Amino acid sequence: MLVILKSHAQQEAIDHVVERIESLGLKTHISQGEFKTIIGAIGEESPELQEQLATIDGVERVMPIMKPYKLAGREMRPNDSMVQVGDVKIGCGNYAFIAGPCAVEDFDTCMDTAKIVKKAGANMLRGGAYKPRTSPYAFQGLGEEGLKILKACREETGLPVVTEVTDPRNVDLICEYADMLQIGARNMQNFVLLTEVGKAGKPVLLKRGANATVKDWLMSAEYILSNGNENVVLCERGSTGFEPELRFNLDVGAIALAQIYSHLPIIVDPSHPAGRRDLVRPLCMAGMAAGADGFITEVHSCPEKALCDGKQALTGKLIAELIQQVQRFIDHK
Ligand code: PEP
Ligand code: MN
Repeated sequence: MLVILKSHAQQEAIDHVVERIESLGLKTHISQGEFKTIIGAIGEESPELQEQLATIDGVERVMPIMKPYKLAGREMRPNDSMVQVGDVKIGCGNYAFIAGPCAVEDFDTCMDTAKIVKKAGANMLRGGAYKPRTSPYAFQGLGEEGLKILKACREETGLPVVTEVTDPRNVDLICEYADMLQIGARNMQNFVLLTEVGKAGKPVLLKRGANATVKDWLMSAEYILSNGNENVVLCERGSTGFEPELRFNLDVGAIALAQIYSHLPIIVDPSHPAGRRDLVRPLCMAGMAAGADGFITEVHSCPEKALCDGKQALTGKLIAELIQQVQRFIDHK
């Protein structure tokens, strides 16, 4: 619920209201304007509770928050939010250009690719050390060795690193190496994992599940936010479609819709819906046109040798062209 305080409330009055709200078992989120202070009271809503809150000294009125995603939604926080990863800002007119291999395969390949994407103009490096694979026999990633390679690539290039976390037991370890944690599409509703990355406090890249609605997606973001982590960036990566030549259906409508309902930054992943190199650029530009705050794409120093997702990996030349085109688009916005 939104608890609106009387005009010009002093700190003492605000503290009193916060204490009373929390004693009712609710969490609080304070938004302070020039004249008005609004306190978000987060928890189950009921008319009885609304009445109780309205009787607290210093409260002017109480309004229910209509959407179930109370922290991710715009009702309590109407302005866009910005997430910072290392010295890279995402949102509010700042763009993420994230590129790198699908998986960290070995030191030299990852380092070569990191240098290529840096030269092309990327501002963050991606690479999976723990890979969620459909087959248990497929390459599963290098684990901690992969994290060490990513760290070395960051030290060499200065690019902050985003890498996927697939298991709550690995969150602490990955936090030692990475600048941002990725929740993959398959884990978007792994609520234990969402809770753990919420507690970890590192910025999170939350991909939309292939069969998830925008509401499901924002509710998953809510798990992270409600565990105390405000640094969430959403990522649209396509939903299940019926065209056999497309891996997934990039849903640009979902990008625009999520931006209406949520203040969180959103980026587009054109690589996984494309499934093939020649579709990455048009899908990326479509996502940018729909309002994305940047993109995450797969790049490989030698795509034909890639152990994972080689068909959709861009070459050094293609990522440089893509970044130039996106930059031109942003400059003319
Ligand atoms: C990935 O980024 O390599 C990945 C596995 O993505 P998704 O979760 O979107 O399939
Ligand atoms: Mn991939």
